[in-house]
Order: sequence, then C-alpha cells, then structure tokens
Amino acid sequence: MSEVMSGIWALPVEHALFRGSFRLALLATTVLVPLFAAPASAQQDAFQAKLDAAVSALDRYPRFRGLTPEHRELIAEFMAGNTLFIALHELAHAVTSQMQLPALDRKEDAADAFAVVQLAKLAPALSDHVLEQAAKGWFVSDQRTQDNGNTVPYFDDHGIDRERAERIACLMVGAGAGKFPRLAAETKLPQERRDGCGAEYEAAAKTWDDALKARLRSPDQPKTKIDVVYGPADAKGKVEPIAQAFRAMGILEALAAQLSDTYVWPAPFTIEMESCGYPSAQWLPRVHQLGICYELAADFGEFYRTYGDRPSRSATQRPRTR
Ligand SMILES: [Zn+2]
Repeated sequence: MSEVMSGIWALPVEHALFRGSFRLALLATTVLVPLFAAPASAQQDAFQAKLDAAVSALDRYPRFRGLTPEHRELIAEFMAGNTLFIALHELAHAVTSQMQLPALDRKEDAADAFAVVQLAKLAPALSDHVLEQAAKGWFVSDQRTQDNGNTVPYFDDHGIDRERAERIACLMVGAGAGKFPRLAAETKLPQERRDGCGAEYEAAAKTWDDALKARLRSPDQPKTKIDVVYGPADAKGKVEPIAQAFRAMGILEALAAQLSDTYVWPAPFTIEMESCGYPSAQWLPRVHQLGICYELAADFGEFYRTYGDRPSRSATQRPRTR
C-alpha cells in the first residue's frame, strides 16, 4: 500500500463507505431516460466483451474459483456497479468542496443522488445488469443483517438500511422510466412510491444540474485531466485477480472520461485502485485522489457470492440485453 493510500486513515472517515469487513454500502444505479432510450447495443456488446475478460480473471480469485462463469459474471456485475456507486458517492463530497458548491441539504442523500445521476449518464457504456445489481446491493445487505444479526456500522451512521435502499431504488426506477420493473418488484417498492419515482429522480437530477451548471464544460474548453491508476496488488497477490478484473472492465476509465468531458474541474485528479489490506474508498483532498481499495471490490464480490442471487435463478429471470 502506498503512502498516499495510507493517508485514507489519517483523514476523517465519516464518509468512508466501507471500513470493516463486509460492509455493504448502498448502491444505486440509474439511467437517464434519454440515455436509456438511445440504442446502446453496440456499446453494451463492447462492455460484455470486457465483462467476459473480467469473469475469466475472477476464476483465479480463491473465493470464486470453481464457480460457473455465469455465477462469476453476476459477481463481476455486482462488484462493478457497487464500486462505481461508492466511488461516485465519495466523489460527490469532493465535488461539493472542490467546486465550492453551496452545501446541499441531507448531504448523504445528495451524494447518493449524485451517484445515481452519474451512473445514469454512464448507462450506455455499461450494461443494465450492472446498474440493476448495483441498485440491489443495499437490499442484499439488509437481508444479510437479518440473517446473521451482524451490524453494519456504515449503515448505523447513515440511517436505516431499508429507507435508504428504497430511496436509491426509487431514483433508479425513476431514471429507468420502466426499464427496471423487476428491480421495483424485488425491492418491494410500494406502488404509490413507484408512481412518484420519476418525479423523485427528476428533482434529484435537477438539484445537481443546477448546482453544477457553472461548472459544465463547453466544447471549446479543454478537458481536465483525470487519470485512472491501478496500483499493484498486495504482496501475496491475493487481490491480483480483482485488479485484473477491474482493468478488464474499464469502468473507471469510462467514468473518468465522462467526468472530464462534462465538467470543468478546479484541478486534475486521479482515480486510483490500490491494495490497502482493508475495504475502503475515500477522497483524499491533499493529493487530489479518489482512492478505492481492491479489498472493497473483493468484499462486494464475496458478499454477493454469499448473499446474492444464484445463476440458476437469475439465468431464468433476467433478460440478456446484448
Ligand atoms: Zn458520504
């Protein structure tokens, strides 16, 4: 672990989404209506090829070795969606301070909404499955808590699991505009809540659009440099397959491209995955870096392996989008 990443723990950690083992954060996923409406099959085919490479890499991770490719694909999608969500949630806090935006009410909810809005914009470069899996993470976590009674300190710090999960799922459902009926059903969103999800998403998106209006990049403005770095895996190489899977999927590169294309940032920054020895993700203001531990992604994968859908179930239920 580098000196830089070690700095995560020297900083206030109220926004570190995952600090203990198996700390699940919420995931949200979303999709803007116009983006979903656009035919994105070519992009999704391209993503599927990357996902396939990640699935191969994950066969070398001890906890996933021997699982069927279908099962590892579900795990990869869950890891991808949730890691993106956490990265964006942390980045939302950074955006607020770095761009000197007025503080938004209920900053944790605002950070979740930022993640959803940005994921929506990324939707064509990913797959619906990644987005859907990400939106279900909170519910999987809730189920786990009920199963074994373990508490999740992050959730304790950030409100009731189910309440936050419903809000994120509703934002996603609203953004998808009918794209995720199964998500709404599985997360048991009451019908009256579902009916208002479109408006809820629109309001959340508008809040962020208004806040960032002055930071939108015009075509003639240069793009801020946002590097994506994959640091070395730990000495024993345990998380190396995780690192390879993320390199293969290229989701952070897609995120960096979107962020530099859309906004004028006050300074270049880096999104870096690195081996930390523990699961975490956090914005490091001193070095302008969003640090994401491989262990966090691994935690998501292991969590899903234990508590998520099995391929026999999902294979019959989820439609392929490619
Ligand atoms: Zn936060």
